[in-house]
Amino acid sequence: MSSACQFLHKNLATLPRFRAGFNPQDLPRNGLYFLFEKGEAAHGGDRVVRVGTHTGQNNLSKRLNEHLFKHNKDRSVFRKHVGRCLLTREVDSFLEFWELDLTAKKQREQFEHLVDKKRLAEIETDVSDYVNEKFSFVVLSVENKENRLKIETGMLGTIAQCSECTASAQWLGRQHPNSVIRENGLWNIQGLKGVPFSEEEIDYLFIRSDEAA
Ligand SMILES: [Zn+2]
Repeated sequence: MSSACQFLHKNLATLPRFRAGFNPQDLPRNGLYFLFEKGEAAHGGDRVVRVGTHTGQNNLSKRLNEHLFKHNKDRSVFRKHVGRCLLTREVDSFLEFWELDLTAKKQREQFEHLVDKKRLAEIETDVSDYVNEKFSFVVLSVENKENRLKIETGMLGTIAQCSECTASAQWLGRQHPNSVIRENGLWNIQGLKGVPFSEEEIDYLFIRSDEAA
Protein backbone atom coordinates (compact mmCIF):
# COMPACT_ATOMS: atom_id res chain seq x y z
CA MET A 1 0.00 0.00 0.00
CA SER A 2 2.74 2.44 0.98
CA SER A 3 4.84 1.52 -2.05
CA ALA A 4 1.96 2.42 -4.41
CA CYS A 5 1.57 5.72 -2.55
CA GLN A 6 5.31 6.32 -2.84
CA PHE A 7 5.06 5.67 -6.58
CA LEU A 8 2.09 8.07 -6.78
CA HIS A 9 4.01 10.85 -4.98
CA LYS A 10 7.02 10.25 -7.26
CA ASN A 11 4.82 10.66 -10.35
CA LEU A 12 3.06 13.74 -8.98
CA ALA A 13 6.45 15.37 -8.30
CA THR A 14 7.21 15.29 -12.04
CA LEU A 15 4.13 17.36 -12.98
CA PRO A 16 4.24 21.17 -13.35
CA ARG A 17 3.52 22.86 -10.01
CA PHE A 18 1.00 25.71 -9.81
CA ARG A 19 0.52 28.38 -7.17
CA ALA A 20 -1.59 31.49 -6.57
CA GLY A 21 -1.77 33.58 -9.71
CA PHE A 22 -1.74 30.54 -12.02
CA ASN A 23 -2.87 31.07 -15.58
CA PRO A 24 -6.09 29.06 -16.15
CA GLN A 25 -4.97 28.46 -19.74
CA ASP A 26 -2.02 26.44 -18.49
CA LEU A 27 -4.37 23.86 -16.93
CA PRO A 28 -6.24 21.05 -18.68
CA ARG A 29 -9.97 21.75 -18.87
CA ASN A 30 -10.84 18.57 -16.97
CA GLY A 31 -9.03 16.56 -14.37
CA LEU A 32 -8.06 15.96 -10.77
CA TYR A 33 -6.04 18.29 -8.60
CA PHE A 34 -3.61 17.35 -5.81
CA LEU A 35 -2.83 19.97 -3.16
CA PHE A 36 0.46 20.27 -1.30
CA GLU A 37 0.94 22.37 1.83
CA LYS A 38 4.16 23.91 3.15
CA GLY A 39 5.53 21.99 6.11
CA GLU A 40 3.86 18.71 5.13
CA ALA A 41 6.17 15.99 3.85
CA ALA A 42 6.01 12.28 2.98
CA HIS A 43 7.92 9.80 0.78
CA GLY A 44 10.95 12.10 0.65
CA GLY A 45 9.05 15.09 -0.77
CA ASP A 46 5.87 17.14 -0.41
CA ARG A 47 2.86 15.28 0.96
CA VAL A 48 -0.51 15.38 -0.81
CA VAL A 49 -2.95 17.01 1.64
CA ARG A 50 -6.08 17.04 -0.53
CA VAL A 51 -7.35 15.40 -3.71
CA GLY A 52 -10.31 16.84 -5.56
CA THR A 53 -12.07 17.06 -8.87
CA HIS A 54 -15.12 18.69 -10.47
CA THR A 55 -18.40 17.48 -11.92
CA GLY A 56 -19.23 20.30 -14.40
CA GLN A 57 -17.46 19.64 -17.70
CA ASN A 58 -14.53 21.99 -18.56
CA ASN A 59 -14.64 23.50 -15.05
CA LEU A 60 -11.33 22.42 -13.51
CA SER A 61 -9.78 25.91 -13.32
CA LYS A 62 -13.08 27.48 -12.19
CA ARG A 63 -13.35 24.92 -9.39
CA LEU A 64 -9.76 25.53 -8.28
CA ASN A 65 -10.42 29.25 -8.24
CA GLU A 66 -13.46 28.73 -6.00
CA HIS A 67 -11.48 26.56 -3.60
CA LEU A 68 -8.35 28.63 -3.40
CA PHE A 69 -9.19 32.27 -4.01
CA LYS A 70 -12.87 33.19 -4.33
CA HIS A 71 -14.20 34.78 -1.14
CA ASN A 72 -17.20 32.49 -0.66
CA LYS A 73 -16.83 29.58 1.77
CA ASP A 74 -20.30 28.33 0.84
CA ARG A 75 -19.00 27.36 -2.61
CA SER A 76 -16.05 25.42 -1.24
CA VAL A 77 -15.97 22.87 1.54
CA PHE A 78 -12.17 23.17 1.46
CA ARG A 79 -12.29 26.91 2.34
CA LYS A 80 -14.79 26.10 5.05
CA HIS A 81 -12.39 23.52 6.54
CA VAL A 82 -9.42 25.92 6.49
CA GLY A 83 -11.50 28.73 8.03
CA ARG A 84 -12.76 26.42 10.79
CA CYS A 85 -9.20 25.55 11.73
CA LEU A 86 -7.93 29.15 11.65
CA LEU A 87 -10.83 30.26 13.88
CA THR A 88 -10.42 27.29 16.26
CA ARG A 89 -6.70 27.98 16.57
CA GLU A 90 -7.45 31.58 17.57
CA VAL A 91 -10.33 30.50 19.88
CA ASP A 92 -12.50 32.91 17.87
CA SER A 93 -16.24 32.79 18.59
CA PHE A 94 -17.00 33.82 14.99
CA LEU A 95 -16.72 30.08 14.22
CA GLU A 96 -20.44 29.76 15.01
CA PHE A 97 -21.27 32.13 12.14
CA TRP A 98 -18.66 30.65 9.79
CA GLU A 99 -20.62 27.37 10.01
CA LEU A 100 -23.79 28.96 8.59
CA ASP A 101 -24.43 28.32 4.90
CA LEU A 102 -26.04 31.38 3.31
CA THR A 103 -26.50 29.94 -0.19
CA ALA A 104 -30.19 29.07 0.09
CA LYS A 105 -32.72 31.93 0.27
CA LYS A 106 -34.42 30.46 3.33
CA GLN A 107 -31.12 30.27 5.21
CA ARG A 108 -30.24 33.82 4.19
CA GLU A 109 -33.57 35.18 5.44
CA GLN A 110 -33.13 33.33 8.71
CA PHE A 111 -29.47 34.00 9.48
CA GLU A 112 -27.95 36.67 7.26
CA HIS A 113 -28.83 39.59 9.55
CA LEU A 114 -27.00 37.85 12.41
CA VAL A 115 -23.69 37.65 10.57
CA ASP A 116 -21.14 40.45 10.90
CA LYS A 117 -20.32 40.98 7.20
CA LYS A 118 -17.12 42.87 7.83
CA ARG A 119 -15.82 40.07 10.04
CA LEU A 120 -16.89 37.46 7.50
CA ALA A 121 -14.95 39.28 4.77
CA GLU A 122 -11.89 39.43 7.05
CA ILE A 123 -11.97 35.68 7.62
CA GLU A 124 -12.38 35.03 3.89
CA THR A 125 -9.26 37.15 3.36
CA ASP A 126 -7.42 35.23 6.10
CA VAL A 127 -8.34 31.94 4.40
CA SER A 128 -7.11 33.18 1.01
CA ASP A 129 -3.89 34.57 2.56
CA TYR A 130 -3.21 31.23 4.25
CA VAL A 131 -3.98 29.27 1.09
CA ASN A 132 -1.89 31.56 -1.13
CA GLU A 133 1.08 31.32 1.18
CA LYS A 134 0.95 27.62 1.98
CA PHE A 135 -0.62 25.70 -0.88
CA SER A 136 0.50 24.61 -4.32
CA PHE A 137 -1.00 22.02 -6.64
CA VAL A 138 -0.55 19.74 -9.64
CA VAL A 139 -3.24 18.46 -11.98
CA LEU A 140 -3.87 15.18 -13.78
CA SER A 141 -5.88 15.50 -16.96
CA VAL A 142 -8.97 13.26 -17.11
CA GLU A 143 -11.68 14.19 -19.62
CA ASN A 144 -14.50 11.87 -18.59
CA LYS A 145 -16.53 12.74 -15.47
CA GLU A 146 -17.22 9.16 -14.32
CA ASN A 147 -13.52 8.37 -14.64
CA ARG A 148 -12.59 11.49 -12.67
CA LEU A 149 -14.83 10.48 -9.77
CA LYS A 150 -13.57 6.87 -9.77
CA ILE A 151 -9.94 7.94 -9.94
CA GLU A 152 -10.46 10.47 -7.13
CA THR A 153 -11.74 7.71 -4.84
CA GLY A 154 -8.83 5.41 -5.73
CA MET A 155 -6.29 8.20 -5.15
CA LEU A 156 -7.84 9.11 -1.80
CA GLY A 157 -7.88 5.45 -0.74
CA THR A 158 -4.22 5.08 -1.75
CA ILE A 159 -3.14 8.10 0.30
CA ALA A 160 -5.49 7.79 3.30
CA GLN A 161 -4.53 4.16 3.85
CA CYS A 162 -0.79 4.79 3.50
CA SER A 163 1.09 4.50 6.78
CA GLU A 164 3.77 6.97 5.68
CA CYS A 165 1.38 9.81 4.83
CA THR A 166 0.77 11.39 8.20
CA ALA A 167 0.31 14.99 9.28
CA SER A 168 3.08 16.93 11.00
CA ALA A 169 2.55 17.96 14.61
CA GLN A 170 2.01 21.55 13.46
CA TRP A 171 -0.47 20.77 10.67
CA LEU A 172 -3.37 23.24 10.67
CA GLY A 173 -5.89 20.44 10.04
CA ARG A 174 -5.21 19.13 13.55
CA GLN A 175 -7.45 21.99 14.73
CA HIS A 176 -10.44 20.61 12.81
CA PRO A 177 -13.52 19.53 14.83
CA ASN A 178 -13.93 16.40 12.67
CA SER A 179 -11.60 13.56 13.72
CA VAL A 180 -11.60 12.17 10.14
CA ILE A 181 -9.53 15.18 9.05
CA ARG A 182 -7.35 15.20 12.17
CA GLU A 183 -6.56 11.50 11.95
CA ASN A 184 -6.06 11.07 8.20
CA GLY A 185 -4.08 14.25 7.66
CA LEU A 186 -6.13 15.15 4.58
CA TRP A 187 -8.46 18.06 3.85
CA ASN A 188 -10.97 15.45 2.66
CA ILE A 189 -13.72 13.61 4.51
CA GLN A 190 -15.43 11.54 1.78
CA GLY A 191 -13.88 8.74 -0.26
CA LEU A 192 -11.07 7.80 2.10
CA LYS A 193 -12.08 4.14 2.22
CA GLY A 194 -11.72 3.72 -1.55
CA VAL A 195 -9.80 0.66 -2.78
CA PRO A 196 -6.15 1.79 -3.13
CA PHE A 197 -4.57 1.70 -6.58
CA SER A 198 -1.70 -0.65 -7.42
CA GLU A 199 1.54 0.72 -8.90
CA GLU A 200 0.48 -0.68 -12.29
CA GLU A 201 -2.82 1.21 -12.14
CA ILE A 202 -1.07 4.44 -11.15
CA ASP A 203 1.45 3.97 -13.94
CA TYR A 204 -1.40 3.53 -16.42
CA LEU A 205 -3.22 6.63 -15.14
CA PHE A 206 -0.18 8.84 -15.55
CA ILE A 207 0.54 7.58 -19.04
CA ARG A 208 -3.00 7.48 -20.39
CA SER A 209 -5.14 9.36 -17.88
CA ASP A 210 -7.77 10.42 -20.41
CA GLU A 211 -8.70 6.89 -21.42
CA ALA A 212 -8.41 5.35 -17.95
CA ALA A 213 -11.39 3.81 -16.27
ZN1 LIG B 1 1.80 7.81 1.28
